[in-house]
Amino acid sequence: MSKQSENILQMLKEQISTIEFDNSSVDVGTVFKVGDGIAFVRGLDQVLAGEMLQFDNEVYGLALNLEENQVGVVLLGNDQNIKEGDTVYRTNKIIEVGVGDQLLGRVVDALGQPIDGKGNIESVETRPIERIAPGVMTRESVHEPLHTGLKVVDSMIPIGKGQRELIIGDRQTGKTSIALNAIINQKGQGVKCIYVAIGQKASTVAMVVEKLKEHDALDYTVIVSSTASELAPLQYMAPYTGCAIGEYWMDNGDDVLIVYDDLSKHAVAYRTISLLLRRPAGREAYPGDVFYLHSRLLERSAKLNDNYGGGSMTALPIIETQAGDISAYIPTNVISITDGQLFLNLDSFNSGVRPAVDSGMSVSRVGSAAQTSAMKHVAASLKLELATYHELQSFAQFSSDIDEQTQATIDHGDRLTELLKQGALNKVEHELMVLSLFLNRYGYLDKLAVKDVLAFEKFIHQRFEKEHQDILDEIREEFKLDDALIEKIKTVMDGCLNEFQAGYHGV
Ligand code: ATP
Ligand code: MG
Repeated sequence: MSKQSENILQMLKEQISTIEFDNSSVDVGTVFKVGDGIAFVRGLDQVLAGEMLQFDNEVYGLALNLEENQVGVVLLGNDQNIKEGDTVYRTNKIIEVGVGDQLLGRVVDALGQPIDGKGNIESVETRPIERIAPGVMTRESVHEPLHTGLKVVDSMIPIGKGQRELIIGDRQTGKTSIALNAIINQKGQGVKCIYVAIGQKASTVAMVVEKLKEHDALDYTVIVSSTASELAPLQYMAPYTGCAIGEYWMDNGDDVLIVYDDLSKHAVAYRTISLLLRRPAGREAYPGDVFYLHSRLLERSAKLNDNYGGGSMTALPIIETQAGDISAYIPTNVISITDGQLFLNLDSFNSGVRPAVDSGMSVSRVGSAAQTSAMKHVAASLKLELATYHELQSFAQFSSDIDEQTQATIDHGDRLTELLKQGALNKVEHELMVLSLFLNRYGYLDKLAVKDVLAFEKFIHQRFEKEHQDILDEIREEFKLDDALIEKIKTVMDGCLNEFQAGYHGV
């Protein structure tokens, strides 16, 4: 090489080394493969995981796989509009949704866009759908009750504000009904509710909306819907969107209740995306990080301490099991993430014991810390009574002569099971529920025939509401039963029992 050309080379090298690349302006990629709702893109060196990307034809995508020389993108629109060689632009944004009180009473899709035909939602603030969960120092232990209005739950498996309680059971066992009952029971309690429908039939979601409207619960509820017919990425995003909406309220010091119906379908949507992105399949063909999928969602529910506004977000995730098998992959994952579960038994449901909550298999790790003292007083022995009953019942099926005491325990169990029955979306106020369980605690139940239990319960509820509001007020305000109050209630109930047994069933 001549001296002159060496000089030129040297000069060029120096000049090149001083050039500064503006990364944002060069971050445009090219589609090199597309199909099945997935696009593989080359040239996006700086893209963030979970970043929103814009394709031609107004199609957006979510960057999920960051590989050495390509990016795997799930498309949030029709892949027919995209072809190889198309340009892809970065938006420099993780997906965000509008949050705020304007969402109350509305039905939105997984991107927070209204789908109820009631016009635009003007949100002032937006939030990224993925966010790190509140840390230990910002939290407080769960201690306030969140009443579901269901006797069997509030008495034995109490749920607290900020808790995560799984509802698990086979299909058609009343899972959705329990969650809806909890939402309906928040009327006038200042709790904002979110119902996230994942992979359900559009008709089911429409029915949920209808039921909430019927019970005046829509005013304080948002429905985030991604039905079975929608794309897998939208079903995957819906719970995070719902969570981001709830987090806004929690951070503002409000109480929030969020229902994820259901996370089994969420896991299936994620499996679909992962397999299409060619991620290695693990147990039951789910990708290895499916535990993280749900843990990072449910960890965002919390009870914040007063320094952080004191808000809370209670989560009721739902999981559908196959033939009661709770040892499958997804059920065991979610059981271990949550603070307890309500296990619904198909046989009980079919035999008419509804809600079919299995008291032996259901737990709340928060326990009585989330119960009022009045409820604790009347419900303390319930779980044990039912456990003894179930044990003796299976035993007694095979023997003909049963001793008197065993028979008495079984008879009592029959009545108690009857007392805990409750129709779907038929909430019972806390103070009336205390009275119902009072019947068990103070032996009134054993004086009634099984078929009369619910009728008598209704009778005393009506009687107290009509003539003894003072007693109800006292339970409501004090949240506890002192000796004087117990005597007062007993006097009224004795009177009611006499009237009832004399055949007078009206009020
Ligand atoms: P799916 O698996 O289809 O989601 P699910 O487990 O969510 O079903 P639901 O939809 O809540 O079950 O309830 C199934 C049916 O049982 C509904 O028709 C509902 O009205 C009825 N049902 C639920 N709970 C009760 C109850 N406590 N008393 C009477 N009927 C009930
Ligand atoms: Mg359901």
